[in-house]
Amino acid sequence: MNQKERHQKEDEDDSALNISSTEPLELDDQYTKPKSIFWGKCHPMIFRKGKPTIVIGPHWPLFICAFLLFFFIGGLFIIIRFNENPLIFYTTILVGINQCVSYIIVSLINPGVANVERNDNEKNQDNSQKTWYCKVCKLIQAKETQHCLDCDICIYEFDHHCPWTGKCIGKGNIKQFYYFILSTIVFIIFNLVLTLLKIKEQESKMQKQQ
Ligand SMILES: [Zn+2]
Ligand SMILES: [Zn+2]
Repeated sequence: MNQKERHQKEDEDDSALNISSTEPLELDDQYTKPKSIFWGKCHPMIFRKGKPTIVIGPHWPLFICAFLLFFFIGGLFIIIRFNENPLIFYTTILVGINQCVSYIIVSLINPGVANVERNDNEKNQDNSQKTWYCKVCKLIQAKETQHCLDCDICIYEFDHHCPWTGKCIGKGNIKQFYYFILSTIVFIIFNLVLTLLKIKEQESKMQKQQ
């Protein structure tokens, strides 16, 4: 689906939701940002230069559950390998921490919420190729933004809504998301291979004893 079709579909979704108000949000005196920012279902935290660096998504309980699961599994492998050779033990710790930390980062940083950005409402009104109007956020948005129905907010370069991180994956956290995927693959392969080797080692030990 191209950009235009996507925005047309969103318009249809909006009418299905009975969003009748199309009044743009009131802008401040300098005409740089809306007077009150529409955050949808997201929870912005810790601001830097007017933009949130941390944004918690609407599905944050799933993020906590998934984090506890990763933490538990990673911790279990560390406990199991306590008496292994130091290289294996410390690599297990490193791989586990890397996976948990990359998950926290992708889940907490701003995915690229668009509503805090400069809103050149009048300037871009005729330039429909570069902008579109979001009826929910009530703002003229850049072409590369898309409104997430789960987060209820426009996101720059929206990739997908990820319930496990509790929010969207967009311009702000897409690289961190790929890193998290990579660190998870490393975590799985590393622990799977070592576990299988250990099982084989135990089996051959038992066979020798018999
Ligand atoms: Zn929007
Ligand atoms: Zn979302």
